[in-house]
Amino acid sequence: MTQDRTPLNIWNSVLGELELQINKPNYRTWFEKTRGLRFDGDCFVVGVPSAFVAEYLNQNQRSLIENVLSRILHKDVKAQFQVDGGEPTCPWASRTTSDSGPVQQGRLPLFNARYTFDSFVAGPCNQLARAAAIGVAQSPGQTSYNPLVIYGGHGLGKTHLLHAMGHVALKQNYEVLYVSAEQFCNELITALRERKSEEFRSKYRSLDMLLVDDIQFFSGKEQTGENFYHTFNDLHNANHQIVMTSDRPPRSIPNIPERLRSRLEGGLVTSLDLPDIETRMDILRAKAEREGVEVSQDILEKIASEIQENIRALEGSLNRVVAYAKLVRAMLTPELVVKALKDIDGTETLTPQLTAGMIIEAVVNTFHLTPTDLRSRKRDEATSLARQVAVYIIRQETEFSLAEIGNVLGGRSPATITHAYQKMSQDVNNSPQLRRKVFEIYEKLGCMKKLPPPQ
Ligand code: ADP
Ligand code: MG
Repeated sequence: MTQDRTPLNIWNSVLGELELQINKPNYRTWFEKTRGLRFDGDCFVVGVPSAFVAEYLNQNQRSLIENVLSRILHKDVKAQFQVDGGEPTCPWASRTTSDSGPVQQGRLPLFNARYTFDSFVAGPCNQLARAAAIGVAQSPGQTSYNPLVIYGGHGLGKTHLLHAMGHVALKQNYEVLYVSAEQFCNELITALRERKSEEFRSKYRSLDMLLVDDIQFFSGKEQTGENFYHTFNDLHNANHQIVMTSDRPPRSIPNIPERLRSRLEGGLVTSLDLPDIETRMDILRAKAEREGVEVSQDILEKIASEIQENIRALEGSLNRVVAYAKLVRAMLTPELVVKALKDIDGTETLTPQLTAGMIIEAVVNTFHLTPTDLRSRKRDEATSLARQVAVYIIRQETEFSLAEIGNVLGGRSPATITHAYQKMSQDVNNSPQLRRKVFEIYEKLGCMKKLPPPQ
């Protein structure tokens, strides 16, 4: 029985399976010096030799590891990676803690493991915002950048920066919370309905740093705007840090309380701009490297010069081009890039088939979840919504039957899938927020012209 097994020997079984599934050099590099440290019934902590290995496994092998663990332990298990006596490799992992904290804490990932300062490519378009974000994350509440407001169009890295700040602050043991303005609003409504506004207030008041994404959402929502103003004041008066993002500068957000607006403008307001061609190429190069695909300089240049809208679209296009090349089994050439990207407009008939796996990957990345979450029985709001969105896109984009969709999503019945699909088909039309999310996912998949742009 699993109860009798120590983390050490559970992990040895996992290693046995992984060794069969992964090629030898990779296995040696990433797994050889790992060991099982702890298992609390839900979460399995793997000891690794360095922060670098932790980061790599977390970003690239987590779903594989969780699959094997879950199979061996006959239940859904999450994996965490913890440095087992290694040297910190992250320049910010200092101050009050060693780097031995898990890369993710608790049951849900607090911050998307991919969104770090290391993976955020610097360029003239983001210089000030990036520098301010690093400074603030290292010393929340102690700089003159309080609040810090970062604004910029969609797909330019706002969420990425907030998560990167979260990682840094968390490593230093600060109490930090990331919340979208929409989530804040929903929580507030629930708290008011259940007469728990005091609890709501104290949850936010106790933070060292609050990261609020997409505050343009407060526009026209008077009660939420007012409440947010109070939360803001509580934190600000105690010298705690607030960081916010918005798709436009505070002065251009219509219908928010004037006193909130003037508070927003009282710290540092900085922008993320469209990247220039060099930065676009750097971003593509970094992504290709991370994904282990070899793409030549002239191809990167071609993609970077074709796609100028935003960074998410840029990344999606690289996915697209690589998938296209695989589909037509052709060498990547600049001509092929043009063809693959033209196809996005629907002007060509040959479309690389999106797979359920690709879609699930893009969905969980957007919702900051893991594939295991989608397959699990979890029914919290975020997981349920992400699952329904996955159903919707898989049904739209693949030939999968209802039963097959049910299978890839953890063995759900065709009736459940039908229900989710019907619900989403309506909701996508009725909710601009949801349409924006779905649009984001299509962008990640390199199909950015399939939906009308979000408003
Ligand atoms: P926003 O929140 O502004 O809509 P995101 O933060 O979601 O945008 O970024 C969109 C995508 O682009 C993400 O995959 C993110 O990792 C990537 N990205 C944005 N800016 C950069 C950057 N400077 N370097 C590397 N990747 C970036
Ligand atoms: Mg965002």
